[in-house]
Amino acid sequence: MIDFRDRLSRSVRSKLLAMVLAPLLLGVPILLGLVWMWGTQGYQQLVSYKVGSDLITAHEYFAHMHQNVAVDIGALASSHRLSRAMAAPAGAALDSYLEEARGQAGLDFLYLLDARGELLGADLPRHHPSARRDDWPVVRKALAGEPATAIDVFDAEHLAAINPALRQRARLSLVPTPNAAPDARLEETRGLLIHAAIPVRDESERLVAVLEGGVLLNGNSDMVDRINAIIYREGTLPLGSRGTATLFLGDTRIATNVRLFEGERALGTRASRAVRDHVLTEGKVWLDTAFVVNDYYVSGYEPVIDSFGKRVGMLYVGFLEAPFSAAMQGALFTLFAVFVSVSVAGCVLSLRWARSIFKPVEQVGATIQRVGQGDAEARVGPVASRDEIGQLAAAFDGLLDTLAARRAELQRWADELDRKVADRTLELQEANATLEQARRHLAMTEKLAAIGELTAGVAHEINNPVAVIQGNLDVLKEILGPAADPVREEIRLIHEQTHRIWLIVTKLLQFARPGEFAGYVEGVDPNALIADCLVLTRHNLERRNIDVHVDTAATCRVEVNASELQQVLINLIVNAIQAMPDGGSLRLRIRDWEEDGQPVGARMEVCDTGQGIAAEDLSRIFDPFFTTKKGSGTGLGLSISYTIIERYGGRISVASQPGQGACFTVHLRSEARYADTPTAPGFNARWIETGTATEPGRPSDANTR
Ligand code: ADP
Repeated sequence: MIDFRDRLSRSVRSKLLAMVLAPLLLGVPILLGLVWMWGTQGYQQLVSYKVGSDLITAHEYFAHMHQNVAVDIGALASSHRLSRAMAAPAGAALDSYLEEARGQAGLDFLYLLDARGELLGADLPRHHPSARRDDWPVVRKALAGEPATAIDVFDAEHLAAINPALRQRARLSLVPTPNAAPDARLEETRGLLIHAAIPVRDESERLVAVLEGGVLLNGNSDMVDRINAIIYREGTLPLGSRGTATLFLGDTRIATNVRLFEGERALGTRASRAVRDHVLTEGKVWLDTAFVVNDYYVSGYEPVIDSFGKRVGMLYVGFLEAPFSAAMQGALFTLFAVFVSVSVAGCVLSLRWARSIFKPVEQVGATIQRVGQGDAEARVGPVASRDEIGQLAAAFDGLLDTLAARRAELQRWADELDRKVADRTLELQEANATLEQARRHLAMTEKLAAIGELTAGVAHEINNPVAVIQGNLDVLKEILGPAADPVREEIRLIHEQTHRIWLIVTKLLQFARPGEFAGYVEGVDPNALIADCLVLTRHNLERRNIDVHVDTAATCRVEVNASELQQVLINLIVNAIQAMPDGGSLRLRIRDWEEDGQPVGARMEVCDTGQGIAAEDLSRIFDPFFTTKKGSGTGLGLSISYTIIERYGGRISVASQPGQGACFTVHLRSEARYADTPTAPGFNARWIETGTATEPGRPSDANTR
């Protein structure tokens, strides 16, 4: 129930279905109820009308029978044979005539009364009951000159007096009947008769006698069979029903075609109490269903009035109700079935129709859900219906397409923006790198400028005394001549050490004032130059047991001062040798340097398998005075090399993994591109102002470092 309400509140389809189906589902049961009620009422009325008209027919026939008895007796009353019999002297002739006439007319008794109502003759003279018969209204009426016929009840003695056989015929055992009023009697002994009295007139139309006769109706099956045959002719009742007709004396069936179980006529059975009270007590006509013997019959009862005006019996016609009601119920059930089938079919059709109407709506709903879950490709797709909802679904797809196009456009813009941001970021990073490089250059420049100034001063202060020492030493040697032999060794040592002082000062000056030492620039073959370097360092290499691998395949020359390049390369080789105190492998590799597929110059690699460079030192090894060789190193070799190579527009770089050796690469151009760095010019300008001449072009000696 809750689920149904929930669905009803959530689904438009359910709401509309409820709207459509509610009249059908509420209206049809109401309609069916009304049809059932009206049908039942109509049926009741119909059967009442029918049984009413059947009762009228029976009544007419019954009346017709009275008339027939009167007509028959009337015919006898006016016959010659009667007047002859009356004229005969002896009563026996009259009696025998009456007996014969009774038999012919089908009467049960026939009396001739005189004009005072006393019995003149009887069909059975021996048993005639009483002399005077004018107690009976019909007789009185006839004595008054009018033919009369009526229904009368004769008690048992009266019947026996007329004819003992008649009494016997009239006797009926009462059969206990359901629904009947209690009756202490065991039998019905009275007789119900059609009783007629007709005046007999002489030739001058004077009333001379009355002919009285009667027909006993107890057990008179012919009569009820005929009534039944007339009213319920074959085919007038539905299959299975049967018509019945009965004559009651009081409430007891004395002539009937209602059958008991064994097919025997239900004589002696009694009307239900309800019928008896309604008809006999209240004197009304019964037109309704009544319990008859053992089943319900649609029944018509009317009271039978005797000549005294008393209700003495009932006339009944009716037919078995069950087939009628079954037919009616069958018709109603058929109607119900048709209604229900139509309703169910209507519901099913409505449901299917509603589904086809709402399918596009549900498709749109599902699509919205999928779009909401992120499926941008979700579409309603083609829908079968071309109504407004179908158009709505198509329009929705159009809307989604437009949205998708907008979103794609936005995405394109976003991508473009991302790309631009990335480009700008890269540019910024490059600019930062350049800035950093410039900053480092500047730092180094400043450092070098300070060192240069210091060096220039120191060199000036040292070189002159050293030159004086050396000059005076030479003078001393000349003056002493052979006398100097005992101190020759000491003189040599002084000479050597002053030379060392000079060398250090020269190096300092070379570092501070590189341009001064540059000499001339030429196109140098790097392959040949490396061979020269190896010649100079071979002694050290062999001493340290180092394998040398040389791979020279450069085709370009490089524009540089040859001795400067040699100084750089020898510096790198010596560093490599010092990094491999226990031997190792030195690899020298010369290749062309290409940029964008174009030869630019040469690339020279000096790689060793020594201890390598610690990560934290990598960024500092080109700094002036940075050295890990405490005591033996100056920390100037790499910074001088860096300055030289940069000056020609080349570059020097290093790659190293601690413990796995180091690899230095020198790039030099075929056409030198003189660096526009502030290093050399600024420094040199100051140097020139304060500088002192040293030995220009003197080759550096790696071994003396
Ligand atoms: P020096 O050799 O006088 O120390 P350099 O400027 O030539 O000065 O070298 C600076 C420092 O760089 C060295 O002290 C050394 O620590 C490091 N270095 C240079 N070359 C190598 C190499 N091949 N292997 C390991 N360390 C090296």
